[in-house]
Amino acid sequence: MGIVLIFGAQMPVIKVGRMAGQFAKPRSDPFEIKDGVKLPSYRGDNINGDAFDEKSRIPDPQRLIRAYLQSVGTLNLLRAFATGGYAAMQRVSQWNLDFVLHSEQGDRYMELAQRVDEALGFMAAAGVTIDHPLMNTVEFWTSHECLHLPYEQALTRTDSTTGLYYDCSAHMLWVGERTRQLDGAHVEFLRGVSNPLGIKVSDKMDPKELVKLCEILNPRNKPGRLTIITRMGADNMRVKLPHLIRAVRQAGLIVTWVSDPMHGNTIKAPSGLKTRPFDAIRAELRAFFDVHDQEGSYPGGVHLEMTGQNVTECVGGSKTITFDDLNSRYHTHCDPRLNASQSLELAFAISERLRRKRLRSVNSIHKGHLDLGYMA
Ligand code: PEP
Repeated sequence: MGIVLIFGAQMPVIKVGRMAGQFAKPRSDPFEIKDGVKLPSYRGDNINGDAFDEKSRIPDPQRLIRAYLQSVGTLNLLRAFATGGYAAMQRVSQWNLDFVLHSEQGDRYMELAQRVDEALGFMAAAGVTIDHPLMNTVEFWTSHECLHLPYEQALTRTDSTTGLYYDCSAHMLWVGERTRQLDGAHVEFLRGVSNPLGIKVSDKMDPKELVKLCEILNPRNKPGRLTIITRMGADNMRVKLPHLIRAVRQAGLIVTWVSDPMHGNTIKAPSGLKTRPFDAIRAELRAFFDVHDQEGSYPGGVHLEMTGQNVTECVGGSKTITFDDLNSRYHTHCDPRLNASQSLELAFAISERLRRKRLRSVNSIHKGHLDLGYMA
């Protein structure tokens, strides 16, 4: 997806992995009732078990240790992939693409990879060195919701050179829609660490409250510190987002706007499984770009729940997954994820939108108008 966005949109992309994003899972309802039996809700593998029995639902502190060790192993693997040569641009056509072989998205990807190969061949022939760390490695950052405060606190360290605190459980942490109260413990904790932070925002967020929250979390208005991640469904977004953008701008706050088109689009299939329609996800992304175009602000990124596997958890997409297909490869214990083909399809749609935006901007500069709407 990173390559599709960089090459297609001709823009640098910062890649942040939402890793084990729901190992500690926020719940709106503390209990779950099935066939008249009431049990505490499943709160993510970091805390209790998904099986619907009393024993599994008891919080087990050993799970925190296991999650920590799994995270260490996963980070080692990521570091090896990111810096060990596998991520080299010259290998774009060799990356494991089993998941999209013989599919429309796979064909589009292979075509793009060929163009990347040609561009690299041209650069090498013209004497531009492509044997540079920028071309052979990738910067990949990690992120999750800062939900389980004792876990986060245990992994917080002081940087001895600056005296600043960093929560080392991830590079970037976000405060969730359900824990972002101005006087709450999660905001108090995040205020004290120097990591870049995300703020999840639904249509329930009041513009004045958002400004206050930004001021608490970023009192010095440091660029790069705050990312506002909106998740409210396409229709709400067209109505609410303009007010949030205007309030933030009027307060002079520097933030990055990112769209999470997943969490405002969860529905129940007739079978009872949670799913998300691909069309609703795409519609929310379209609304995000439209509103930012209209307000002259910058659509800075997307936040997705996805897997590289060929699961059937979200309905729709070019390989149309129906409600009846959901059962065949529904592997998530948490929320429904986009599969590889659906994720690539979104990446192509976003890169096309960014490319058009860039061309409009270049054209208006050539015509002598500097369209500030397209400047960061
Ligand atoms: C999430 O991103 O996993 C999540 C639960 O998000 P939100 O707080 O926006 O509901």
